[in-house]
Amino acid sequence: MSHQQGKPGSAKRTHGDRHGDAVTIASAEVGSVSVCACGVITLTLQYISLRLEPGAFRELQGLLHFSQRKLDGGAAHAAPQGAGGADVASVH
Ligand SMILES: [Zn+2]
Repeated sequence: MSHQQGKPGSAKRTHGDRHGDAVTIASAEVGSVSVCACGVITLTLQYISLRLEPGAFRELQGLLHFSQRKLDGGAAHAAPQGAGGADVASVH
């Protein structure tokens, strides 16, 4: 498919500032994720694309996962809080 596939070391400096075209590892209606030969991950949404280093991508993934769990769990059993953040709501 692409001449960039093959030896991981050789493609490292050849793509210049173009990241994310190497391999698409996941895609969905909302967007797709591709990873460059140099390890940079590109998250593409409908109108934007984010270029992230592996550590930043992991952090983002954790952030989204955490948020989703809050959304799922929070709506199920927690009473809706009026004003103020959820973390400080128990002071009253
Ligand atoms: Zn790259």
